[in-house]
Amino acid sequence: MQADELAYYPFISEASTHVENLGISLDSLLNSRAYRAARVRGIERVKEALEGEIKKSPVSGEVQVLSELLSYPFARMLVACVDDQLFTRRYALAEAKAAYTLLKNETPAFLLKFGEDFGISADFRDSYFCMHFTAYIHFSNALKDPTWKLTNRQFRAGEVKITKEEFARLLEEAVRERIEQSFPIPEIPSEVSNFCAPYVAEIKDQFEIQKKKFGATDFGAVEPELFPPCISHALANVQGGINLAHSMRFAMTSFLLSVGMSVDEILNLFNISPDFNAELTLYQIEHIAGATGNVYKPPACDTMRTYGNCVGKDRLCEKINHPLGYYERKIYLRNKEREKEKEKGKERDKEKESGKKKEQEQ
Ligand code: SF4
Repeated sequence: MQADELAYYPFISEASTHVENLGISLDSLLNSRAYRAARVRGIERVKEALEGEIKKSPVSGEVQVLSELLSYPFARMLVACVDDQLFTRRYALAEAKAAYTLLKNETPAFLLKFGEDFGISADFRDSYFCMHFTAYIHFSNALKDPTWKLTNRQFRAGEVKITKEEFARLLEEAVRERIEQSFPIPEIPSEVSNFCAPYVAEIKDQFEIQKKKFGATDFGAVEPELFPPCISHALANVQGGINLAHSMRFAMTSFLLSVGMSVDEILNLFNISPDFNAELTLYQIEHIAGATGNVYKPPACDTMRTYGNCVGKDRLCEKINHPLGYYERKIYLRNKEREKEKEKGKERDKEKESGKKKEQEQ
């Protein structure tokens, strides 16, 4: 590939080799004025990933191509220093999506060569790509649309027939997987972490703001005993190893995220399910949590009823129309009850105090 092409796809092996061969030292990349543009673009890359889309404008000329190419290793340093699994996934996804936008417009020969870098061997025949079903399953596994199911595909002699756009979409998955799996970086040199520290602090702040923006009300510590009946029922089923219907799985996960449970805590809850697949479950939870920039809210009671997920309705349910409203109301009532108890306690203490005084006076 030409250097400008490598700049668009800096995560492929050829691009890494090309950068290595340039012989640019870490110190130069971090401190040299010559690579300032690369560092600026690297920061931009990560910030754009936070917004969900890395924009790739055409690059031309040696200097611009080099900056674009070097911005990737610098962006990786920032992601490594942020050291947050959810953020890493967000970054990998944004890089992969940007790649897909470009890949869709590449020639079949280019896509075949690109695929080889990810161990995907395929053929292009009669305007279709044909790839071995194992690679197909591997890279389509996380894609939810039923059209990706092997049973919905033309499948002959171990090969699956797909369109050019679909092949590019699978390459997007391959890119996402490669980037994601290249983190965490075990030992980050101190010069890198020191240099990146101010940018990392800013990125972390922005990430937190984003999570809050898409997230929910701060309910404080999670209090499962105050969960609405539908969610408690679903939780009990999960703990009992009973599989949940997809709609309930979604409702429960989005509810738990909204009340402040972490992705890991929810993943642990599902760890007991008969069909537990850690990678897929993590992907689904993070997807609902907003890894793609879209945070999903739990469904309202009406929707829960439509899907048969409104189970164990109690008197408080009559007064709310959303499971989160139930939880909020329960917290309010419980706090009010606690306040009352506190007041009663104070009254009792006062009475005791005045009783003691009276005894002393007598
Ligand atoms: S009414 Fe709403 S909160 Fe109550 S059980 Fe049904 S879905 Fe859950």
